[in-house]
Amino acid sequence: MNLSPDLLVVGLGPAGSRAAEAAASAGLDVLAIDRRAVAGEPVQCAEFVPLLLDQEVAGLGAVHRQTIERMCTAIEQDPAEETAGFRGRMLDRARFDALLAARAAAAGAELRFATSLARIMPDGTVRLSDGTELRPHLVMGADGPRSRVGAAIGSVNKELVEARQIRVPLLETYDATDIFLCADYPGGYGWLFPCGTTANLGLGVVPAARATLKPLLQQLHARLVREGRVGAAVLGLTGGAIPVGGRLQAAGWLGDVAVLLAGDAAGLAHPVSGAGIAAAVLSGTLAGAAGVAHLGGCATALAGYEEDLADLYDVTFARALARRRALLERYNAGEVPGAALQRAGWIGFDEYWGEIHELS
Ligand SMILES: Cc1cc2nc3c(=O)[nH]c(=O)nc-3n(C[C@H](O)[C@H](O)[C@H](O)COP(=O)(O)OP(=O)(O)OC[C@H]3O[C@@H](n4cnc5c(N)ncnc54)[C@H](O)[C@@H]3O)c2cc1C
Repeated sequence: MNLSPDLLVVGLGPAGSRAAEAAASAGLDVLAIDRRAVAGEPVQCAEFVPLLLDQEVAGLGAVHRQTIERMCTAIEQDPAEETAGFRGRMLDRARFDALLAARAAAAGAELRFATSLARIMPDGTVRLSDGTELRPHLVMGADGPRSRVGAAIGSVNKELVEARQIRVPLLETYDATDIFLCADYPGGYGWLFPCGTTANLGLGVVPAARATLKPLLQQLHARLVREGRVGAAVLGLTGGAIPVGGRLQAAGWLGDVAVLLAGDAAGLAHPVSGAGIAAAVLSGTLAGAAGVAHLGGCATALAGYEEDLADLYDVTFARALARRRALLERYNAGEVPGAALQRAGWIGFDEYWGEIHELS
């Protein structure tokens, strides 16, 4: 192992693998580590991606589970309303992450699994879990919502949603992502995303309501069993944190070592829907290219990366944050948000896309 690689990538999710691939393809000496033993496993994801991801990643057919044509949103116990045009696909997320990691390796990056970032010093020196000390020229934090690399440069995701998800039998094939909005789910929502003969059934809430996740998900599951849509069996359990507080500063310094953040580590999950796979892929690619430019002597590469992220996400995220905060204010005031506010807070309804005075 080169103890002074051009680029150390921490995290081999979609953001890290794309960054490693982009940088290695351009000839950088790239070392990429992940604390997981196997890329993408265990899966902590509901596995839906919009169709636009096909424009970024070739060969998604190899990790495709099923096509999604629309979204159906139910508020409380009311019948669901359909939103057409929310097309996408369900991925096999473990195989997707493995595919991206394999592409990074094929481009020449050295990948090390079962290897964690143990410490990152203020001068950019990095200690790995096996005791190795590295002195990379550039560090890429693609280490997820609770990024240690981000913490080292003061970029920390302060708003999270905690999610719990089970895999259940799906009794009839289905082509929509179902969303469940409920006053009992502060800061989050429930979902049923079909994967052929099974489905991902999950729920997210603000961390303060974490204790309610298990019973509320059991209730949602029981309701769908009663409705004859899913089986009672629980075939798998997962969960995780989703950053929902918006974009963080994604470039910084530790001594003379530049640091870039991508994906969840840079706060790039959508503050309302929690979707972050596409943003991880795109930001990882951009971060890899920015790293190449920076090490090639381009003085504006880091600022250019921040600008690219601002152009891509700031308008969308500002709307989502304004909607999310309006809802959370009601909870904080001890009120129960009614259907009108819930509609304004969800991307599937016209009300969400209406005027927001807070937007500049
Ligand atoms: C329950 C749930 C459901 C979701 N559903 C969807 C969905 O349907 N669609 C969607 O678009 N998004 C979804 N998301 C969000 C999506 O999963 C993330 O936005 C996406 O994974 C971000 O990719 P990433 O590469 O930035 O981070 P991650 O995929 O989290 O990858 C980070 C990697 O860093 C590694 N790592 C962390 N710390 C260290 C360390 N100290 N040392 C070494 N390695 C480390 C981790 O092991 C991990 O492999 C969901 C999230 C959750 C939790």
